[in-house]
Amino acid sequence: MNLSDFAARCGWPPKESIVRARLEVLEMLVTCNRCKGTGIFERNPLDKTCYGCAGRKLKLPPLTARLAATVRERQDRGDLSGYYQRLRELRSAQEEGFAKSLENLVPEMVVYAGARKA
Ligand SMILES: [Zn+2]
Repeated sequence: MNLSDFAARCGWPPKESIVRARLEVLEMLVTCNRCKGTGIFERNPLDKTCYGCAGRKLKLPPLTARLAATVRERQDRGDLSGYYQRLRELRSAQEEGFAKSLENLVPEMVVYAGARKA
């Protein structure tokens, strides 16, 4: 199914960055098969960044109804509650003006960057 339908089944906004961030927290992204998870594709003549995953090593899994059902279950169990809490904290920091430099970033992507370090 397409990303919008998948997001709707998960109860999420239909944005790729958001779906990707949440699936990453749930450890449901899959290794890019083009670069075997290195992010580098040597045969790419211009730069060696893998264009299968844009150098990110992981990519979205096939977006199936079954995956959406699993996401719903895990969400109901609270597997994303820490992530949602960080999102709320970030948003309130922005509202209070403590995070001016973050204003031009999509909040989900800031959390996504933090999730990668954890
Ligand atoms: Zn790749």
